[in-house]
Amino acid sequence: MTTRLYYHDSSLCEFDAEVGAVIEIPRPAIVLDRTAFYPTSGGQIFDTGWIVPESASASKIRVTEVADSEDGRVIHFLEAPVKNLQPGTRVHGQIDPARRRDHMQQHSGQHVLSAAFVRLFNMPTVSFHMADDYCSIDLETSILSKEQVESAERLANEIILENRLVDVRFVTREQAATLGLRKIPPVERDELRLIDIHDFDLTACGGTHVKQTGQIGTVLLRKVERVRQGWRVEFVAGQRAVATARRDFTTLTETAALFSSHLYDVPQQARKALDEVKSLLKQYGQSQDEVTTAQAAALLAETPESGGRRVVVRSFAGRDMGFVKMIAQKLTHQSSLVIALLATSSPQPTLVFAQSPGQPYDMGALMKEAMSKLGGRGGGSKDLAQGGVPNAGGIEAALDDALRALGTSSS
Ligand SMILES: [Zn+2]
Repeated sequence: MTTRLYYHDSSLCEFDAEVGAVIEIPRPAIVLDRTAFYPTSGGQIFDTGWIVPESASASKIRVTEVADSEDGRVIHFLEAPVKNLQPGTRVHGQIDPARRRDHMQQHSGQHVLSAAFVRLFNMPTVSFHMADDYCSIDLETSILSKEQVESAERLANEIILENRLVDVRFVTREQAATLGLRKIPPVERDELRLIDIHDFDLTACGGTHVKQTGQIGTVLLRKVERVRQGWRVEFVAGQRAVATARRDFTTLTETAALFSSHLYDVPQQARKALDEVKSLLKQYGQSQDEVTTAQAAALLAETPESGGRRVVVRSFAGRDMGFVKMIAQKLTHQSSLVIALLATSSPQPTLVFAQSPGQPYDMGALMKEAMSKLGGRGGGSKDLAQGGVPNAGGIEAALDDALRALGTSSS
């Protein structure tokens, strides 16, 4: 068992220890007789830092991850294998203090926030998750309103402002049962470590915590979402809260500049712009309909009937597939005698083949043949088919081929 120095002093970032074991597989790691490094557990993520061997010639080694082993040891994973470490070697441990402080702010912030949800709305926290950039708790509740989220955030920040003492105590399981803890861990352990936020929250926890709530700085609640057993609430505390608010402000400022508006007018401006887009799209749709109807009529008028059919062959430029398809549909509906072999060279080279209902060809098969020659992808039904090709180069030839194929396969 490794002696865990962080149980008694969360601010301890330097310590001396002796190497207990050196591990090489699957990753280089060491076990120490005592450590202040926190291993991932209870929702809190691991510390990083350095191990400095005592011998003057050895350089310090990066600790990249720390984990609990099943037999109660703390495993310190190292950046690279180290030759001069062996059981009995004296080392000095250094924990990255900024990362530790951030974790203390998040974890203590979580205790205050979880207690606030219990006090105000009797919503227990069923799990806590800490990531590198945000944290979340899962609340056991079927509903969670915006007002409840804001009230819990307000109470949590009042407790932080009051700068209440945060004590660590060790009690037996029997004693714990009489103290009215917010949470008792299910694992069988004789001694429990309690985190006591004076007159506000008492809970069993092995994490690293601030000494007074003021050190949390602030908590900022973010996204809430429904999860299987309740609601998930994302939050950030301390410097993370400031960094997050700064990023939000930058994003909003950039968006407001696009609209030449004030920050707080962005939602209104965005709504207005979306309404305009919707209205313009509607007008555009109507215009497309009118233009394609007229153009189809003109194409029909200039295409002579031959052998009981009008075969319209045309390549467009600067028209999208939707436009070409609309022309094909207008042509085949304005006359029952039409075969339309159409294409557009830009913005995206595309072929559209169509025939009036009742005509004898197979546009899908004709399209497949054209695609196999041009290296594109496409297909369709007997009366309407479409396909996209990688470049506009072979389009004219493909239309000629298709026209020839009609000649040879027509009866
Ligand atoms: Zn905790």
